[in-house]
Amino acid sequence: MEHLKLQDLGEFELIERIRKQVAKGAGVQRGIGDDAAVLSLPDGHHLLTSTDLLIEGVHFRHDWTDCEALGHKAVAVNLSDIAAMGGTPRYLYLGLACPGKTDLADINAFLKGALAEAERHNVVLVGGDTCRSPGPWMISVTIEGSVLARQAIGRDGAQPGDLIMVSGTVGDSALALHLLRNDRDPGAALLVRHHQPKAQVELGRLLGEYRLANAMIDISDGLSSDLEHILQASQVNGIIVEDQLPLSKEFRQHVNTEPDLRGLALNGGEDYELLFTVAPEKAAALTALCAERSVSISSIGVIHEGCGVLSLHDMAGVVRPILVRGYDHFCRS
Ligand code: ADP
Ligand code: MG
Repeated sequence: MEHLKLQDLGEFELIERIRKQVAKGAGVQRGIGDDAAVLSLPDGHHLLTSTDLLIEGVHFRHDWTDCEALGHKAVAVNLSDIAAMGGTPRYLYLGLACPGKTDLADINAFLKGALAEAERHNVVLVGGDTCRSPGPWMISVTIEGSVLARQAIGRDGAQPGDLIMVSGTVGDSALALHLLRNDRDPGAALLVRHHQPKAQVELGRLLGEYRLANAMIDISDGLSSDLEHILQASQVNGIIVEDQLPLSKEFRQHVNTEPDLRGLALNGGEDYELLFTVAPEKAAALTALCAERSVSISSIGVIHEGCGVLSLHDMAGVVRPILVRGYDHFCRS
């Protein structure tokens, strides 16, 4: 069966196969199979919705990634957006456009990765759309989550005096991509950060529930670029301390031999870590909650009064405004 092509199966049989793989989840009155999904949210919650596109040749290459990892990543990047609002992810929609000659095995692997990542976070696939693509794979994932009205964390709440904090380590995904582009082997640890990012869902919800963060974003374009979004939305300045950026062992090893790569921690993208600001009096409670749950967070700088300027306290002790250089689809550096 696995040698079948998508065109041998047809749209409706594929949808039926997808439907059979999805268990009925909490809150789903009607899922796949009608004109629209009918869903409920817990009382007092607001609906969070976010969507992301993944285009072959722009976001991924089949020769660098396997389809199961791609399915995982397509879902994880959406989970990360709900986490970045302090919410709980709940429902997923999958738009899939692939050439008719696509191996069914590739589609099955993609679905396996996507559904496993969704299930891991109790998220149910409730709809989507399926069509033929004349060339590249195009994947559109939409996620819905919920958040108690007063617990949503926007980008615009950072206050002078707040600590700037980030989860996990930064730069690993961008370093893996840089090495792949140069025909070098990034090694398993860096590759997994690039192909199978882990959305910080538990941390996001924790920050929302206990109202610990004043502003939050997930790092998709790059730490400096995403932090600048917080600074501009909040109309404050920020200084980050280069020496305090959390770096993985693998990242440090590469930077030791190639110092030019250090900038990837600041400007590289696709970390899918959470970047947030915390009032100093709440920092101790946050550190304790994260330690209990083995969630890694680091304080990397401070918010000041201002109008959106990001500065770097560099290794030489010099503080200077930085030229933000995150990923922009229409202005490639
Ligand atoms: P419509 O013509 O109303 O768009 P479709 O035939 O495209 O209906 O879809 C039928 C049902 O299957 C709908 O519930 C839709 O949400 C769902 N569906 C279609 N494609 C996918 C997919 N790739 N993943 C999940 N559900 C899908
Ligand atoms: Mg349709």
